[in-house]
Amino acid sequence: MDVEGAVRDVAAMTDAGVVYELETSAGRATLRTTHPGGNGRVVGADGDTIRFEPETRDSSQRWFYWNIDLESQVDQTLRFEFPNDEVVGPRGPAVRTAMPCGEPIGNGAWNDWQWLGADSRIDVTGFRYAFDAGEGAQFALSFPYQRADSDAFAFEYESDPRLTVETLTTTAGGRTVPVVRLGPSDADRHVALAARHHACESTASYALEGALRELLESEDAGALLETHRFHVYPFGDLDGVERGDQGKHRSPHDHNRDYVNENAITDLSPLYPTTAAVATYLRSHGSIAFALDFHCPYKWGGDINDRPFFVTEPSAASAGLRGLAT
Ligand SMILES: [Zn+2]
Repeated sequence: MDVEGAVRDVAAMTDAGVVYELETSAGRATLRTTHPGGNGRVVGADGDTIRFEPETRDSSQRWFYWNIDLESQVDQTLRFEFPNDEVVGPRGPAVRTAMPCGEPIGNGAWNDWQWLGADSRIDVTGFRYAFDAGEGAQFALSFPYQRADSDAFAFEYESDPRLTVETLTTTAGGRTVPVVRLGPSDADRHVALAARHHACESTASYALEGALRELLESEDAGALLETHRFHVYPFGDLDGVERGDQGKHRSPHDHNRDYVNENAITDLSPLYPTTAAVATYLRSHGSIAFALDFHCPYKWGGDINDRPFFVTEPSAASAGLRGLAT
């Protein structure tokens, strides 16, 4: 492992991530990527500065997702730098901290994700954070959304008979893939919604969850659930989401490019069990009234990246549908 500076020990490196023991000016810190969604490689540590970069893994292009866990043994302000990447947005990184012992535990032992804030941001390549002794914090490019978040959402609506969660299939990594279904099982109109065909695009999951909440909470939107059966695939690439892969441009092709027709040429069969299962199920229904796959393909800024947009403008869409992306 090519790491410069005061990295005491790469204590563990497995498929589930890496643990780095770091010597800093004031004491010690432990940086991990072993948590769900973890991604980051330490490339150097010096004084109060830790340098790292997003892990590309099996993507064919460098990409920008990162998500690290850091615990400091002492009071210290650490500076985090990305020497090779512009991956700290205008609001700083997303952050959540471990709740101190004795406080009520909500979503696991962690507070909700929030933006660290522009004050913490040094520039597009760095930020700083003041740790209390013993404090643990996680930082990421933007708000992560893991399987546990989807499960927490489903648990909220456990008593609502309009929503069920079933198992679609099992991934190559052995994870069971959920499919959420809403609306009557005998409806003859079908809608398909999906997200995370590119594993790192966690913001898309919040948009998808928001759409489902609207269906379940709003009278107007909820009327659709009397006439339509919704098939919702929250994780097109669950292994990638949990491992913290970029997922975009995965070699030889990513999950979003995996909807190919099976035929005599085996290369055109789907590579991944989830996409194969989604395609088989939806094709068995013939016509789908509406289908939408949520993505967030880039970072911030520019003309479109801070608002919803269609990648390809749907030519036959109604004004109402077009209004989803303004
Ligand atoms: Zn995408």
